[in-house]
Amino acid sequence: MDLSKKKNNELLAELKDLTGQERLLVTRVLLYLQEVEKRKLFLEEGYSSLFAFCTEFLLYTPAEAQVRIEAMRLGKEIPEVIEKINEGKVSLSNAAEAQGHFRREEKKRVVPKAEKEEVLESLYDCTTREAEKKLNERYDPEAKVKLSFYASPELLEKLEKCKGLLAHQNYEGDLAKLIEILADKVIKEHDAPVRGAPQAQENKTRYIPKSTQAFVWKRANHQCEYEKNGKRCSSRHALEIDHIVEYAKGGSNKPENLRLLCSAHNKFRNFQQSG
Ligand SMILES: [Zn+2]
Repeated sequence: MDLSKKKNNELLAELKDLTGQERLLVTRVLLYLQEVEKRKLFLEEGYSSLFAFCTEFLLYTPAEAQVRIEAMRLGKEIPEVIEKINEGKVSLSNAAEAQGHFRREEKKRVVPKAEKEEVLESLYDCTTREAEKKLNERYDPEAKVKLSFYASPELLEKLEKCKGLLAHQNYEGDLAKLIEILADKVIKEHDAPVRGAPQAQENKTRYIPKSTQAFVWKRANHQCEYEKNGKRCSSRHALEIDHIVEYAKGGSNKPENLRLLCSAHNKFRNFQQSG
């Protein structure tokens, strides 16, 4: 299949169409799994659980099997969820995530169907992260995420030093608390208001005054400002101030000519300009 000759809009329209077909297939898989479970076919075929059937017979990865089984079980109680997955209103993984929360909550109390329907509705058009946040806020407000990483001896030494320096705020030397203090410090420094309004600087230098920089960051709400057809990039990663009209082409350092871009969109801009 040679796609290299396709126009951008064709490529996107066809890809969108394919993902629609993909969702239709996924919802069919869920309905078939429901029937397999109802008939206990996995047992008859020699698998001890539907999960084992999914991983060993259907060759799903454990994570793939898990989301399908969770979503399928939710679909048993609330059949509309299957329709919503097909329509793309709720993603498979968000449906699965919701079911996981319902299942854990039901160990403590009965979760009425109406509540589940309401929660599901709140997840329409949510990204995975937004859905996770909503579900955690509702069912697991104390939820903590485990972070793990490899630290070099130099980093360990620096952390120990920080622990000592910040011991008055964190007497026990708790690592999570320490990182939180350090994060607060960086954010506070960054958000510190700069005195004076943004200066209308003439194009004598490429350097953007601190007050203008702070203004642009704040105006962008610390989020990439790349936008197309009303869809704004959600990245907050490695943001940089970009000249809308390039500085080299006479673009000014005034806020109207500045915007905040993530590193990916910054590179993309260069890619577009060079291509
Ligand atoms: Zn971006």
